[in-house]
Amino acid sequence: MDATEQFLKEITDAAGVPGYEGPVRSALRRALSGLAADIEEDGLGSLIARLPGTSERPRIMLAGHMDEVGFMVRYITEGGFIRFMPLGGWWDQVLLAQQVVIKTHKGDVVGQIGAKPPHLLKEEERNKVVEKDAMYIDVGATSRQEVEEIGVRVGDPIIPRSEFTILGNGRTYLAKAWDDRVGCALIVEVFRALAGQPHPNTIYGVGTVQEEVGLRGARTSAFAVAPDVGIVLEVGLTGDLPDMKPEECAVRLGAGPVLLAYDGAMIPNLRLRDLVMDVARELGIPLQIDVMQRGATDGGPIHVNARGVPSVVLGVPARHIHSHQGIISRDDYDATARLVVELVLRLDARQVAELAP
Ligand SMILES: [Zn+2]
Repeated sequence: MDATEQFLKEITDAAGVPGYEGPVRSALRRALSGLAADIEEDGLGSLIARLPGTSERPRIMLAGHMDEVGFMVRYITEGGFIRFMPLGGWWDQVLLAQQVVIKTHKGDVVGQIGAKPPHLLKEEERNKVVEKDAMYIDVGATSRQEVEEIGVRVGDPIIPRSEFTILGNGRTYLAKAWDDRVGCALIVEVFRALAGQPHPNTIYGVGTVQEEVGLRGARTSAFAVAPDVGIVLEVGLTGDLPDMKPEECAVRLGAGPVLLAYDGAMIPNLRLRDLVMDVARELGIPLQIDVMQRGATDGGPIHVNARGVPSVVLGVPARHIHSHQGIISRDDYDATARLVVELVLRLDARQVAELAP
């Protein structure tokens, strides 16, 4: 594993469901200390790292959310099974038989998601999708007391059990939480590239909290930073899967960064959008333009901060997000990092003044 792969492993293996981002925050802080001039946290726990350039303004906010989709312990049954509730969006079909880790005050507890066994279901029940509410986590216990003794309490966070893996071709990576640890990792790449190099602005790298439950950390951290430009670093959904038509989603793995022309909470600043396209063309980086009709990003609260902030969302294509693991391509990752670095280098006071709609 090279240094990038090692950091991607560290940051995706870290546990961080909404409201419980501590381990991710620590990993991000470690990676940015020594590069940033200072690192602070806002009142909700978003991490704000500052990289000064040759001018205090414009302030460029790079945002990646630290939280991942997961669950929380809701109830422990008398028989020793754990009922859970989702934190973030989960599709019932990706849950059954998966392994999870419950983070308790006594340490990690591993379990498996289960439901009534198919052998005991009636014919008509067997063909129906089992809903989350009918599932439970089995930690191998036989009573509520036993579950409590190993440390499980109502409210404990639960994460998918899944480990960073380099796939067969060596250029694609499987891991949990690409959404949005890939954005957190890109912030580190930009800081590495630009620390000690003159850039005509001040960069704020922000690991936001609680995105998956309503874009909450982006709101408070944007208030704290008061940015002049917002660049949200995210994943982009792909449609390069069997039985999908390009018109449903034309984004392909390995075909370059995704620029969102629309998300459910934001229409990007058009001049900034065009600048991204110009820079990509200039550098010979392929760019995939997509619209996200459902769902929103941290761009929502950032672009409506204060008097309004020109903002854009850039994504690394990722397959199978919001499940136990997804897949990204190293080529897309490197190209996105390069595009963001070159974009930031061009965002001086004159260029930012010209972004006014
Ligand atoms: Zn996301």
